[in-house]
Amino acid sequence: MNLINKYVQLICIVLLLAVSVVFLSSSIGITSIFPFSEEKSTITKIIDDNSPASGESVPAMEAFPPDSNPDDTPGDGTAMKEIAMAVAPDIQGVIGRNNTVYGKLISCGLSPTQILNLTQAFNKTFDFRAAGPDDKFQIFLAGNNQLKKFIYSPDPLREYIAERNETGCFTVSKQELIPEKRVEAIEVSLDSSLSKAILNNGEKQGLVDQLVNIFSWDIDFYLFPRKGDRITILYEKYFIDDTFIKYGDILAAKYAGENGSFSSFFFDGGYYDEQGDPLRKMFLRIPVKFGVKTSGYSIRRFHPVKKKYKSHNGIDYGARMGTTIFATANGKVIFSGWKTGYGKVIILKHPNGYLTYYAHCSKLIAKKGQFVDQGETIAKVGMTGIVTGPHVHYEVRINGKPVDPRRIKNFKGTPLSPRKLEQFRTTVQSRLLLVEEKTRQNSKENRLVLADTPE
Ligand SMILES: [Zn+2]
Repeated sequence: MNLINKYVQLICIVLLLAVSVVFLSSSIGITSIFPFSEEKSTITKIIDDNSPASGESVPAMEAFPPDSNPDDTPGDGTAMKEIAMAVAPDIQGVIGRNNTVYGKLISCGLSPTQILNLTQAFNKTFDFRAAGPDDKFQIFLAGNNQLKKFIYSPDPLREYIAERNETGCFTVSKQELIPEKRVEAIEVSLDSSLSKAILNNGEKQGLVDQLVNIFSWDIDFYLFPRKGDRITILYEKYFIDDTFIKYGDILAAKYAGENGSFSSFFFDGGYYDEQGDPLRKMFLRIPVKFGVKTSGYSIRRFHPVKKKYKSHNGIDYGARMGTTIFATANGKVIFSGWKTGYGKVIILKHPNGYLTYYAHCSKLIAKKGQFVDQGETIAKVGMTGIVTGPHVHYEVRINGKPVDPRRIKNFKGTPLSPRKLEQFRTTVQSRLLLVEEKTRQNSKENRLVLADTPE
């Protein structure tokens, strides 16, 4: 009797439990009770060519040990839910060196038929034969290891998305990504070279070149810089998901040096000094192109003048053989050939009675009678004529008489109209405030980093 009672009790409890489970699942939905039962797709595997596990698929359970219920994770319930909501790829990675898209996808466990279908769908929009080793891909799988969705990005600004439709075919769409613009500022002090000063602040050579171009009418980066000179730059940078894409414009820059100070503000498509006078002038300060490959604007190279100007009518800029020589001003080629002592030389005629000479070239590019623009390549650095090493001898003459290129009057372009000038002044004020704010922010961050460093 007692035993039968126990059985009845037990059956009642079991029934009660069953009824409540059915009730719960119908009212909330069974998936919300077991949120991770179908979540294989939330586990991301980064394929790395160095990783020995490359090509194997990762079972979902590896992410969450068998006995752990993710909902029990103390404190971090919301973060877990967010991960579950985001549809992360099952597999992602890069194509890698000496590999093809086909080879990579085979190693990811896709069947040749699936890959063929995918390739055919892609043919109209992107040719996989043009794939590069750094191209990124993402794989989204349905059950049975069937490919559901595939994302291919040959560069950070493009994504091709292939999705499988009901008929089993893939439709491919292209998505252009718009980078996010950020404005940043740095303040650097020159120690050994301009490039180093800027690169040491986490920036790239592209920013150095842009800065040098802006000041190329005012600063002879060979002779002018001194140790301790201070440079401030306010500039635009483009990002996609915190990945640097490219530089935008330099909005403002200041060079405060022992030999003088210059400032520049980007306005209305051009650069102006603080007074609103355009930086673009009749003459560039130097006739040779430098970059990280030549001198990197190092201070050591800032004193290449072997002979004083007075003794030989020009300035010698030492540079590697073959370095680009450009016209310092718009003009007409009146001589392109050999002249005793000068070796291979180009002579340009400019307005107001000016002539410029570019001597000891290895190669002459501009031809006699040709009109050239300021900054246009006219020759290559060499050591023809009477020389001891590769350099360009740069000479300026007014009405036939040699003058010191560093002392010529540099004619300015058209200044801003009064109405524009007013606008310009407002721009200058806001940029200066922005520089102040950004550099203060930087130094604060630096201080924080310092404070975090254990002594
Ligand atoms: Zn010389």
